[in-house]
Amino acid sequence: MADAIEIAARVRSGSVTAVDIVEQHLAAIAKREPEIHAFNLVLAEQARARAHEVDAMVAAGRDPGPLAGVPIALKDNMCTRGVPTTCSSKILAGWKPPYDATVVSKLAAAGAVVIGKTNLDEFAMGSSTENSAFGPTRNPHDITRVPGGSSGGSAAAVSAGFASLGLGSDTGGSIRQPAALCGVVGVKPTYGYVSRYGLIAFASSLDQIGPFANSVADAALLLDVIGGHDPMDSTSIPLTHPALLDVVGQGAEGLRVGRITDLPDGADPDVTERLELAFDALRAAGATIVDVQVPAFEFGLTAYYLIGPAEASSNLARYDGVRYGLRVDAADTNAMYGVTRAAGFGDEVKRRIMLGTYALSAGYYDAYYGKALKVRRLIHDEFERAYQRADVLLTPTSPSVAFPFGAKGDNPLAMYLCDVYTIPANLTGHPGMSVPFGTGAADLPVGVQVLAGTLCEPQMFRAAAALERALS
Ligand code: GLN
Repeated sequence: MADAIEIAARVRSGSVTAVDIVEQHLAAIAKREPEIHAFNLVLAEQARARAHEVDAMVAAGRDPGPLAGVPIALKDNMCTRGVPTTCSSKILAGWKPPYDATVVSKLAAAGAVVIGKTNLDEFAMGSSTENSAFGPTRNPHDITRVPGGSSGGSAAAVSAGFASLGLGSDTGGSIRQPAALCGVVGVKPTYGYVSRYGLIAFASSLDQIGPFANSVADAALLLDVIGGHDPMDSTSIPLTHPALLDVVGQGAEGLRVGRITDLPDGADPDVTERLELAFDALRAAGATIVDVQVPAFEFGLTAYYLIGPAEASSNLARYDGVRYGLRVDAADTNAMYGVTRAAGFGDEVKRRIMLGTYALSAGYYDAYYGKALKVRRLIHDEFERAYQRADVLLTPTSPSVAFPFGAKGDNPLAMYLCDVYTIPANLTGHPGMSVPFGTGAADLPVGVQVLAGTLCEPQMFRAAAALERALS
């Protein structure tokens, strides 16, 4: 039983217990987790205890909330009080956060049951989960292939039925791309829709938390729970968001669906074929297709690989061997910083820190970081113009289906290109989501990306739900 809406309804009515639901998911984990490695930590005892509390509330006639008894997998870059939070990095070894992320508190208040902390590319830097210090996660559809990344563990956990829902973080595509590769729904909301308090920062102006789910309606339910203003995050939007669960059934009638005619090529033919079928499906559901142009789309990747690393180099400066996790002793403090970081950070993280430090250095700041900010603004303004003509835009989520381990191993640029279609929405702050839309090469899942304007999540979810219905 994987459907979160159904689980919550049945737990709330008392027709099934939260304890039974947790045991079913723990059994699925026991069976397949050894080959998938979705988790850094399975919280079996904590989940059982929490499920008992939920059942006790139901028995006492109190409502545990909209996610009553729903098992959820948390990406291991979200702080959980007293529970190790690693970012899949050796540098955080042994660190236990003294507080919960806002999303974690909101899940608890809604009756959800956290079942474990999931694997990721170290500090969320990567597109395959191969950059984890604890070994890769495998794609449940084909264990010789990557699940995507960086939230590969949460995507795989939901896809394999280890959890009904998952949370990931998306800085350049890290929710949408693994969702596409694992055949689940993944949403990056508008920047500021969900609080980042307690999300370990990668690139603060791009990072956003969002849901993984087996259906568009389940994703809406989860986003309704975790969204909303939080005074602990100064970039969170001070508004109450409309309930997305109420709009998913509204259909695509009258929606203007944009086709970006100058989209960068590079997507495989099996992926573009599915995208064409998605346009057809929305047209058949009563939407109109309009052409739009976003000429600066292709510069998104370049701007991202200056802005992202620049912010990362600043954010990661706090891991100094003093305040968190690992310390490697050395003769003096400066030497200790050096050897701790050399031992604690993996190659990709070091590459980002070097790129970012260079882009921000005196003499290069204007030429690299400053220029990238101008490109970011240009891309934003072009998308804003496109959204005057279209309510949503459709693109591929990922240029290809899941690829084999090691396929892009020695070539960072090939890996970076996985996110060519997802990165612009992080630069602009607009929402985007990936919906499974059939299969491509090797019978593997293909995702279609639905993009929308600022706070236009309702239109985005309507289009996504219409795509989902077209397949059923
Ligand atoms: N793959 C991209 C990167 O490595 C995006 C990662 C993310 O969204 N966290 O930067």
